[in-house]
Amino acid sequence: MICGNSNAVVGNMFKSLRGFLSSDLAIDLGTVNTLVYAPDKGIVLFEPSVVAIRHDPGPRNNGSILAIGDAAKRMLGRTPGNIQAIRPMKDGVIADFTVAGKMLKYFIRRLHENRLFQPSPRMVVCVPCGSTQVERGAIRELAIAVGAREVYLIEEPMAAAIGADLPIVDPTGSMILDIGGGTTEVGVISLGGTVYAHTLRMAGDKMDEAIIDYVRHTYGLLIGEATAERVKRKIGAAWHQSEVRHMQIKGRHIADGIPRSQEIDSREIHSALSGCLTSIIDTIKTALEKIPPELAADVAEKGIVVTGGGGLLRDIDRMLAAETGVPIMVTDCPLTCVVRGCAQALQEAETLGDVFLHE
Ligand code: ADP
Ligand code: MG
Repeated sequence: MICGNSNAVVGNMFKSLRGFLSSDLAIDLGTVNTLVYAPDKGIVLFEPSVVAIRHDPGPRNNGSILAIGDAAKRMLGRTPGNIQAIRPMKDGVIADFTVAGKMLKYFIRRLHENRLFQPSPRMVVCVPCGSTQVERGAIRELAIAVGAREVYLIEEPMAAAIGADLPIVDPTGSMILDIGGGTTEVGVISLGGTVYAHTLRMAGDKMDEAIIDYVRHTYGLLIGEATAERVKRKIGAAWHQSEVRHMQIKGRHIADGIPRSQEIDSREIHSALSGCLTSIIDTIKTALEKIPPELAADVAEKGIVVTGGGGLLRDIDRMLAAETGVPIMVTDCPLTCVVRGCAQALQEAETLGDVFLHE
C-alpha cells in the first residue's frame, strides 16, 4: 500500500517534472492583441498589446508602468497629460523594444506566478512575412529576454494555415488571408513551404482611422479610436448589400467643443471603409496573378481562408467572394487561429516538416 502510494507520488513527481520541462509556449505578439497558448492548457493569455506609462516630473524619470493589457486598453484616449497608453507593436513588429519587453515579461510572469520555479520553455513566436532580419532578430532577443530556452520563429500566414487545418504539406495550393490590426498578410502554401507571401500595412487600425476621418468630415465630430472600433464591430459591414444597422455615437463637436450625439448607419461605415477594403481586394488579386497557374487553379477551387480579427467584419466573406470570384471561408475563432497554429507547428513537427524560419 505504502509502496504503491510512493510509486504514485514518484510517478506524479516525474510527470510534473516532465510537464515543467516541456512547458512549450506559443506566442502571437500582435499589434492589437497578444495571445499565449500552452499545448496542455490551450489559450492561457489573451490581452490587448497596450502599456500605460506614467511620466512623473523630474529629469531622470523615464516613465513607470502603470498598467498592461486590458487595464491599459481601458485608459487609451482617457489619460491625463502625464500618462501615456502606448502600443509597443506596430505593423506586427516591435516599435518600442523596452516597452514590448516589459509587456511580454509581465504576461509570461503572470502565467507562472503560482510556480515554485520559473520554467524555461521553448517558445514559438510568429512574425509577419514582410519583417526584416533585424525585426526578426529583435523578436528572438525578446523571447530570450523573457526566459525562452529555445526560440522558433514562424511566418504568420504559415501559422494561420496550420491553425486553420489547411493541408499545408500536400501538393496543392492553399491561400490564407490574415487581417489583423496593423497588417493584412496573404500567403500561398504548398508542399510545406510558402510559395508566395505579401504583407499589406493596412488592417483593422486603418479601418478605425477611416471611421474617425469620416465622422469628422461628415459631422464635424471628433471621436476616439475606442469609439471608432466599437462602431466597426457593432454596425460595420464590408458588403454593400449587408443589412442596414444604426447606432448612436458620441463625440466632441469641432466648432464649439461641446459633446454631441449623432446617429450613424452601416451604409456610411461601409463607404468609409471602402478604401481599406479595396486594398485588401487588390492584395488578393495580385497574389492570384503572381502565383503559378496550377496553384491559382487550386485556390480558385478550394477558396481562400480568412483569419485575424478583421475576418469578423460583417459580411467580409460575401464581399471578397463577390469581388474576387473565389470562395471565401472565415475560420472558426479567427482571433486565435495564428497562436493555435504556432503551437501545432511545434507539436506536429514530425508530420508538418520544418516550417520554422532559419537565420
Ligand atoms: P493583431 O494580430 O494585429 O493583434 P487581431 O487578429 O487580434 O490583430 O485582430 C484585431 C483587429 O480585429 C482589430 O483591429 C479589431 O478592431 C478587429 N476586430 C475584432 N473584432 C471585430 C469585428 N467584430 N468586426 C470588425 N473588426 C473586428
Ligand atoms: Mg495577428
